[in-house]
Amino acid sequence: MPESNDVPIYWTDPYRKEFDIEIIECKKNGDFFEIKIKPECLRAAGGGQAGDRATLEINGKIASVLDTVSREGELVLLCDTKFNVGDKGRLIVDMNWRLAMMRNHSAEHLFAGHIVRSIEGAKLGYIWIDGEHGTIDIDNVRLTFEQVFAAEREVQKAIIQDLPVETEIHSAGDLEPEIRAREGVIRKHEKIRIVRVEGHDSSACSGTHVSRTGEIEFFKIIDVHNTDTGTRLEFLTSGKAVSLVTDTFNLALSRKYDYPFEMEQLGAILDKGKKAIEQRASMVSTIESLMLNEGLFEDINGVRFKTYYMEGFENRDIKSIIRKLRSDVREIRLFFIPGEKCNLTVWTNDLPHSANEYVNNIVSSHGGRGGGSDRVYTGGFIDVKDPFVLYEQIVQGVRERLMF
Ligand SMILES: [Zn+2]
Repeated sequence: MPESNDVPIYWTDPYRKEFDIEIIECKKNGDFFEIKIKPECLRAAGGGQAGDRATLEINGKIASVLDTVSREGELVLLCDTKFNVGDKGRLIVDMNWRLAMMRNHSAEHLFAGHIVRSIEGAKLGYIWIDGEHGTIDIDNVRLTFEQVFAAEREVQKAIIQDLPVETEIHSAGDLEPEIRAREGVIRKHEKIRIVRVEGHDSSACSGTHVSRTGEIEFFKIIDVHNTDTGTRLEFLTSGKAVSLVTDTFNLALSRKYDYPFEMEQLGAILDKGKKAIEQRASMVSTIESLMLNEGLFEDINGVRFKTYYMEGFENRDIKSIIRKLRSDVREIRLFFIPGEKCNLTVWTNDLPHSANEYVNNIVSSHGGRGGGSDRVYTGGFIDVKDPFVLYEQIVQGVRERLMF
């Protein structure tokens, strides 16, 4: 078709499903038969879009066209069945695959159009569109979530407006400079097709598109991540996007009454969950080190001395621990909870002086405050820059107090 002045049928009527065809070549290549047909009624993979799929019905034989490629500008069908040159029959386009690609491709134009127009320096890079999903690389800039979500809203707005997707055929020479011509299009076709959605995007493109934006039905970005050159986005449209969004929302809804929250608070809930996971990891490592070091007491002038750096714990946890401590020797245990506010608890057993006497001066000299009973001292520090350094200083202070 590119040889003639005619334009591909999928440019003008991408919804046509059935064609009378004739086999003009059939070669075995590995696991496939490579078949050429006339007319060239399918679109081969290229320009960032996957190839069409189809079924062939010829002389009572039904064969699957698993993919289509372009070899030296000619359409080649990758087929699982052998046919003879001159065989005539019907070709039925896999319209589920084709329509999904059309929705994804038109959605890609709308989204990329908004990004490129509204964000300085943003350039469209690699794209991949098939019947499952779409991938878009925006090069030259790292997109923020706000920028991505703003462009997503614009696409959804265009879908609701159900705007016509207009196509115009031009000769290669008279392209307007502001229209982004896609790599390869000019070489492949002597005619250039411009795909335009008024107010949203205008691009040179040889792919298949819906005729109205409303056919996209729903557009959802499902992943955003940085690449070496910019940002890669993955998206879904129509039923696949609806299913994913519904499943995700319903997952949140089903948990809403186990962990009471309003749906708008979901982001904050997830942040809190993430923090809880981090705290748990740090508690596990604290407990691990407690277990590995249990029984390693220092002996200073006949007093057993042991210290604990209790990351992720709270004061009430320490209270609960010391309520259960029993000992029949002279002993000091020092519990330190790090943070911007640090808490210190010192438990003593059978010592000649009150707990206060062993700790209070050290705490005050490091800017903290505290007090306690004969056996237990509790203190606190605020605005601590490096909790571990403070911990080591206090431990060393108590150690020296016991030595002299
Ligand atoms: Zn395109």
